[in-house]
Amino acid sequence: MKELNQLIRDNVRKMKPYSSARDEFHGEASVYLDANENPFNSPYNRYPDPLQWKVKEKIAKLKGVRKESILLGNGSDEPIDLLIRAFCEPGKDAITSITPSYGMYEVSAEVNNVEFRKVPLTADFELNASELLRTAGTDSKLIYLCSPNNPTGNNLSRREIYNVLNTFDGLVVVDEAYIDFSSEPSFLTELDKHPTLVVLQTFSKAWGAAAVRLGMAFASPEIIGVLNKIKYPYNINQLTQEYALKLFAEEAKMKEQLVCILKGRTDLERGLRELPCVKKIYPSDANFVLVRVSDANGIYNRLVDKGIIVRNRTNVTLCEGCLRITVGTEDENKQLLNELQMIEL
Ligand code: PMP
Repeated sequence: MKELNQLIRDNVRKMKPYSSARDEFHGEASVYLDANENPFNSPYNRYPDPLQWKVKEKIAKLKGVRKESILLGNGSDEPIDLLIRAFCEPGKDAITSITPSYGMYEVSAEVNNVEFRKVPLTADFELNASELLRTAGTDSKLIYLCSPNNPTGNNLSRREIYNVLNTFDGLVVVDEAYIDFSSEPSFLTELDKHPTLVVLQTFSKAWGAAAVRLGMAFASPEIIGVLNKIKYPYNINQLTQEYALKLFAEEAKMKEQLVCILKGRTDLERGLRELPCVKKIYPSDANFVLVRVSDANGIYNRLVDKGIIVRNRTNVTLCEGCLRITVGTEDENKQLLNELQMIEL
């Protein structure tokens, strides 16, 4: 395993981070004249806590991690990009991932001019660790894995993920955006044993808060320190921080919704199984199901005409003929099944 200092880009290792007014004075005062803020329009005239400690304290308790092991981002899309900017030298280093998977790993790599290598999953959407490692070679700094995977819905094999974690020289990012819907445990408990592990989670799925844009990266305090060094100083606005605290206070409601979505997934799968246009339903540990149908484009367009939007994944590697269907409310799922029932294919 390489030292973290050998993985960080030279310029990032050497640079001095921006120091904000909120960084330079900690504590309570009665008169704040240090940040060129407007003295009126309290409380939103003030810059928010750049490190969001109140929110992180709650998350740390909830997830059983140290608060220094958390980075909050504008969705988990932000840490996906920050990791590349911190660790991958444009035009030189590479990132390796799987296909099919979440599209932003590749987009962020391209934006940063970092080579993106992808290894196809097997026909049953399983990870082949040795092939992934071979493709990653010695010039990949990051490996992105997504489990449960989007758009396939399955958990990647834990044994294969451990294989990658135990062998790869760079950082291994496990994107757990859908972990709350999964029957398998999170990799968060592995953080102390694997100093190169980064786990991503989000408030956009189980917490029902995609609009407020709040994602989490969990890693060693050293890795989080590197990301803090390069993030925008006030990347999480005050309204989002307040909303997160409100969400924690209503955790029981989130858990009830989760039960409802999981039941909805089972009912949806059962309903889909009976439809002639459905050829295969892939097992899901997420809040969506990937379904192979008789005519993906035709069925997609017909559903659009009826005002029902699913995701057409027919042009995605290994997902030919497939639609990805998010679990909705009981009524929304029924509307979808009723429409599909009328298709004679
Ligand atoms: N990871 C995965 C696997 C996703 O599917 C998504 C959103 N669809 C994200 C990350 C990004 O989530 P957000 O930026 O909303 O946290």
